[in-house]
Amino acid sequence: MAQTLHCLIDLHLHLDGSLSAETARVLAAMQGIELPRDAAELDRMLHCPAGCRDLNEYLACFTLPLSLLQTGDALREAARRLLTELADKGLLYAELRFAPQSHGQKGMSQEQAIQAVLAGMQEAPIPSRLILCAMRGADNEAANRETVQLAARYRGRGVAALDLAGAEAIFPTGQFAPLFALARELGVPFVVHAGEADGPESVAAALDMGPRRIGHGVRALEDPAVTARLARERVPLTVCPTSNLDTRVFDRLEDFPLRAMLDAGLVVTVNSDNMAVSGTDAGQELQRLTDCFGLRTEEVRQLLLNAADASFADESLKQQLRAAICRELAQERTEESC
Ligand SMILES: [Zn+2]
Repeated sequence: MAQTLHCLIDLHLHLDGSLSAETARVLAAMQGIELPRDAAELDRMLHCPAGCRDLNEYLACFTLPLSLLQTGDALREAARRLLTELADKGLLYAELRFAPQSHGQKGMSQEQAIQAVLAGMQEAPIPSRLILCAMRGADNEAANRETVQLAARYRGRGVAALDLAGAEAIFPTGQFAPLFALARELGVPFVVHAGEADGPESVAAALDMGPRRIGHGVRALEDPAVTARLARERVPLTVCPTSNLDTRVFDRLEDFPLRAMLDAGLVVTVNSDNMAVSGTDAGQELQRLTDCFGLRTEEVRQLLLNAADASFADESLKQQLRAAICRELAQERTEESC
């Protein structure tokens, strides 16, 4: 059912992890880069391997897509094509994210990278917002601070927020408190990847900094106090179940704590994370959860309404999204209005 919906939203979607094989070929041709002719071999390079052991190995799958996204023209085309693909899949709105500092291999500045992605987003058939990722790392503090400053400069011009992404188990969330202090000082809203490769203490550290949302957050469920705090503070989670299976947070979808999250009153939204690397999309994620946990129509509707509410869209767009969700999902249960 969810896969055929036309009122989908994705709030957690990495541009570099979502390059389709077709887009990879277009970008390679634009730049004279050689790719394997064999479709299966290219797919293997763009998808996480079945034997992927953890987030660190998963992150290695970004090498090829990143190498194709080192010019402004490539970034612009990738953003436009991704949003066009999403529109075809029934998405009404999406928030793309990328780390501008990861696109300087050929000398592109962070600001040029941001402008290129924003230009592609403006050419797309559906509305979208951009989230700029700072990266967990040991020697990129200056680059991260530049990302925060650019988020402030482009906020309201397509950029909605800052994020922190990368190897959570190696570089603990608390280490980045000064970066988020700068974001608060500059009035930049932020989201944080936490509770994915690291445990509930990472979610607690993220909550201490005042995020608008948490990326993943699923491992908060290992600690009832952190779970209760998430519920009390109403901080939405952008969960991505297939990605969690790929990075071995869980071995089976049945182990994904969706029911526990809903029972605890958490604000859950369902997202794809990396459409190519994880081989999924927002509709498929909702469908998998529906099949696995027997979600009722009203539960699917609530997950989508949570996404509309938790988005960085402006109020009039949020209202349009809510209306579209209610229209489509009320039709399935004619006795019930939204
Ligand atoms: Zn992510």
